Amino acid sequence: DALSIPANDIIKKLLISGGGMLNLNSELDFEKAEEIALEFDRLVEMEQQVDVIEEILKDDEEDDESKMVERPPVVCVMGHVDHGKTSLLDKIRSTHVTTGEAGGITQHIGAYTVETANGKITFLDTPGHEAFTSMRMRGAQSTDIAILVVAADDGVMPQTVEAINHAKAAEVEIIVAINKIDKESANIERVKQELTEYELIPEDWGGSTIFCPVSAHTGEGIPELLDMVSLTAEVLELKANPDRKARGIVLEAQLDKGRGPVATVLVQKGTLHVGDAIAVGNAHGKVRAMINDKGKRIKSAGPSTPVEILGLSEVPYAGEVCMAMDSEKEARAVAEKFIAYGREKMLSETKSQLSLDDLFDQIQAGSVKELNIIVKADVQGSVEAVKQSLEKLSNDEVAVKVIHGGVGAINESDVMLASASNAIIIGFNVRPEPAAKDAAAADKVDMRLYRVIYNAIEDIESAMKGMLDPEF
Ligand code: GDP
Repeated sequence: DALSIPANDIIKKLLISGGGMLNLNSELDFEKAEEIALEFDRLVEMEQQVDVIEEILKDDEEDDESKMVERPPVVCVMGHVDHGKTSLLDKIRSTHVTTGEAGGITQHIGAYTVETANGKITFLDTPGHEAFTSMRMRGAQSTDIAILVVAADDGVMPQTVEAINHAKAAEVEIIVAINKIDKESANIERVKQELTEYELIPEDWGGSTIFCPVSAHTGEGIPELLDMVSLTAEVLELKANPDRKARGIVLEAQLDKGRGPVATVLVQKGTLHVGDAIAVGNAHGKVRAMINDKGKRIKSAGPSTPVEILGLSEVPYAGEVCMAMDSEKEARAVAEKFIAYGREKMLSETKSQLSLDDLFDQIQAGSVKELNIIVKADVQGSVEAVKQSLEKLSNDEVAVKVIHGGVGAINESDVMLASASNAIIIGFNVRPEPAAKDAAAADKVDMRLYRVIYNAIEDIESAMKGMLDPEF
């Protein structure tokens, strides 16, 4: 079809040139196709498959500067387990639901917006890094600001460090909330001290990180925390054009017995209306109804608004981009392209897959300027030793950076961080947890286990020079 040559002519030509007897449905490899096209004086080119997705997701609407208006910040809450993420989210929500709204049932749709003295703030309701790491799949960042919750009676713990590194890798602004200050054992100064090690230095100590002492129980300090979020948002100059076709990201989705596929979408640009045709990954449809976080039916949703939408053909995946289209026909065509292409393939192609084996080639090609490494070990001493030795390998072409280091087994969070920041994982005398192993295989994250530090250093050094022995 592309050559505008009848299939029979091509089949004949192939037969003559010794290509054997083929029929209309036979598949040709690229070389053969190229050869036969040449016979007809045509040149064929390999289609860049990744472009298919870029093409589909391409935003062809220019963001008109004059139409950009301020939008509320989107905030996620991160931190170690039991440090009070859920309590803080609940407290903020319950204190900011006005009586008028309280009549409605508070809906947990994956995010909610609160009204403060300084404007609106949208919170992602799922604590933890899943909230935003998985959403970076398509480079679509969902979060503007991360609130790092650290319990004042417990201090910096392993997941605190994980959260810091996730936020840093995503280049998200961090605000520290020192929680549980109502407790007798609270020690705010200690938390501040411990965080300096991770380059989170309070302003009164000469740094630039905002620290807010709070209590999710008594509510103390929460108004100040919200003020700081608004202030940070102001500095970030968050803007969007509400006057265009909507684009957003799926926060959650499920099949509801009565209502069919239901997806919570965070609108990021433009305004989504009831009746709009939308394409969301492999799903498509027309927005039949929209329900906000207060359980109210609404007709339109602007930037930074989370809404539950009904009317999709199927349940989309979280992290998928939601796009308003000109017509239902167009929306269906986009979804069909997605389905035809295959989700697995798409994920593996949109994900970066740095591997030590092809590091040298990538350095030579100029596509890698930083080698990001995550180090996990059985003891803290090893983490430090490896970090120092590895970073010393940096040269003019590539900077070696240990973006996260910690004690303990390689977990799913490590793999998510590696996947999001194109890093490789090195483990010393530790093993991956089964779930982490599966995730690494799925995301094609290069994970290497060693018993001896020297061997790891040697491997990285060789890989940088293109002299790594192939793995058998
Ligand atoms: P998450 O795992 O980080 O979501 O932590 P949770 O919100 O589930 O809180 C863990 C525990 O700490 C619960 O028992 C909470 O009641 C308690 N907690 C949370 N915030 C505070 C606080 O500000 N003060 C006190 N005293 N306890 C708190």
